[in-house]
Amino acid sequence: MPNQAPAETREDPAPPNETAGPAIRLSGLRKHFGDVHAVDGVDLDIPPGEFFSMLGPSGSGKTTVLRMIAGFELPTEGTIELDGRDVSALAPFERDVNTVFQDYALFPHMTVQQNVEYGLRVKRVPKQQRRERAIEALKTVRLDDYGSRKPSQLSGGQRQRVALARALVNRPKVLLLDEPLGALDLKLRQAMQLELKQIQRDVGITFVFVTHDQDEALTMSDRIAVFNDGKIEQVGPPEEVYERPASAFVAGFVGTSNLLGGRGAESVIGRPGLFSIRPEKIRIDGELSEPAAVGDTSATGTITDVVYAGATVRYAVALDAGGQLSVVRQNTDGALADGRVRLSWRQEHSFQVPGQ
Ligand code: ADP
Ligand code: MG
Repeated sequence: MPNQAPAETREDPAPPNETAGPAIRLSGLRKHFGDVHAVDGVDLDIPPGEFFSMLGPSGSGKTTVLRMIAGFELPTEGTIELDGRDVSALAPFERDVNTVFQDYALFPHMTVQQNVEYGLRVKRVPKQQRRERAIEALKTVRLDDYGSRKPSQLSGGQRQRVALARALVNRPKVLLLDEPLGALDLKLRQAMQLELKQIQRDVGITFVFVTHDQDEALTMSDRIAVFNDGKIEQVGPPEEVYERPASAFVAGFVGTSNLLGGRGAESVIGRPGLFSIRPEKIRIDGELSEPAAVGDTSATGTITDVVYAGATVRYAVALDAGGQLSVVRQNTDGALADGRVRLSWRQEHSFQVPGQ
C-alpha cells in the first residue's frame, strides 16, 4: 500500500483507490536471453497512483522488467496486466504506458514546444489541441516559459524535464522511468528527485522508477522492490526495507549495514544468528562509559579506522567479542581519537536477518 508512512509525509491529493485493482500486475514473469536468466520469476502488484521503485545492482534485471511492461521485449514466460487487462502480447503503442530513458534524446532542431508536441503530431492530434496539451505538460514540469527555446539552450535538469513533459503529454496511466536522473550531477540529481516526486503527486499517475541508487529509491518511493539476480528479494515501503531487511543481500545493498554473526553475535546480542545493525543507531563513547540505558546492548572494542565526512564521522570498530561494526556519529564534538570505545544500541535495533 502506498500510504502506510506517517500522514505528514504523504500528501497525495487523490489517494489511490483501495478497491480498484492493481494498475500493473506481473505474474510469473521470466525473460531468458539464451543462458542468461535476466528476469527469473517476478510476481508484483502495483496499485494506481503509486510511486514504485525497482532498486538493484547493475544487471539484476530491472530494465528488462521495464521493457517487458512497455512492450519492447516479450516475456519468455508469465503475464503482464495493465488495469486488469492482459497486454503480454500487445505492441508498445497499444499499451497505455510511456517510458522516459536516461539518454532522453530530444530533437535538437526543434523547439521545446515542438519536442513535446511531437508524439501528438504522430498520432494526428489536431493542431490547437496539440498546442494546449503541450503547454499544459510544460506547466506541469514548470517550464511554461521555455517553449520557444532549443534544447541546447537548456540545462541538463531542464532537458530532463522536457523529456518528462514529452511523456506526460500523452496522458499515460503508467509512466516508466529508467534511471532518468543518471546523467545528472549529484546536486541537480537531488533537486530533481524532489521535483519528480512532486510532479508525480500533482499528476497522480503510477510511476515505475528504475534506479541502482539506494538513496534515490529511499527518498522518492512509496514502495521499493529490491532486485537481485533477476528476482525480487523484498518489496515494501522505504522504512521497512531499510529497517527490516528481508535478506542479507537487502541489508547490504540498501544503506550501509553492519552484519554481526557468529561468535560476536552470540556474545554481544546473546543469541546465535545474523543481525543487521544500522551504523547511525549505534552510540560510541569512551570505554569506561555506561551504556545509555538499562537493557541496551553494549560491546567494547577498538577503533580501527576514522573517516571524516564533514557533517558526520564514520568509525570502524573491531569488537573484543569478534566482528567489526561501522558507526556513524554527528560531528557535534569533533572526531574521537583512535582507541578503546564502548558501543551501545537499543535492543530493537539488532534486527535478525530472516532465515540466518
Ligand atoms: P539492470 O537494468 O538491472 O542493470 P538488465 O535488465 O539490463 O539489468 O539486464 C539483466 C541481465 O540480462 C544482464 O545480465 C544483461 O546482460 C542481460 N541482458 C539484458 N538485455 C539483453 C539482451 N538483449 N541480450 C542478452 N542479454 C541481455
Ligand atoms: Mg538498467
